[in-house]
Amino acid sequence: MKSIKLNEIFFSIQGEGYHSGTAAVFIRTANCNFSCSFCDTDFSENMTLTGAGILKHIKSFPVKFVVITGGEPTLQTEAISDLISLLHTDGYYVSLETNGSSLNRMGADWITVSPKDWVDPGLCTWLCKQGDELKLLYNKQDLSFYENSDFSHYFLQPISNSNFDLNIQQPSLQQIVEIIKKHPKWRLSLQLHKILHIQ
Ligand code: SF4
Repeated sequence: MKSIKLNEIFFSIQGEGYHSGTAAVFIRTANCNFSCSFCDTDFSENMTLTGAGILKHIKSFPVKFVVITGGEPTLQTEAISDLISLLHTDGYYVSLETNGSSLNRMGADWITVSPKDWVDPGLCTWLCKQGDELKLLYNKQDLSFYENSDFSHYFLQPISNSNFDLNIQQPSLQQIVEIIKKHPKWRLSLQLHKILHIQ
């Protein structure tokens, strides 16, 4: 089994989207194929582990819910697919978070796509238009463009950096609320972990 380049593994609650508030083990893979100007995620490579090594590490946590996030996990398709298979044999439910630049969901039980085509349409491809949840960082995009896709849940989320402040988002939180009132297909996603100052 191929080793996986990782940034970190930690146990917390999911702060965003459909599973907000749910305890989960987070496996953050290293590296990303995009370079969004607002990105505050550390996806530097800090360690390399095999799937078996990851499984051994996360068994100490009292949940069977794993979120594989990045960086961009689909950059390591083969190794992550093997990891997901291994997690399944041990009864884990696996959620995959991706920027949607790959069509491969790698066997994950749940897929969250956060497209970044609006950042740079030339460089940030959005290929994966089907999945469980679409999470759009709201920057006054035309929502009908994103609704032309096949997701079970649609979320709008304020763009924020690590110094999250509900009062200084642009567009403001109030503007996003008004947009959702006009487009009720969408729901509000806040980054609870930043509001609560937890990992
Ligand atoms: S796609 Fe996500 S992780 Fe990658 S640079 Fe953009 S915001 Fe950061």
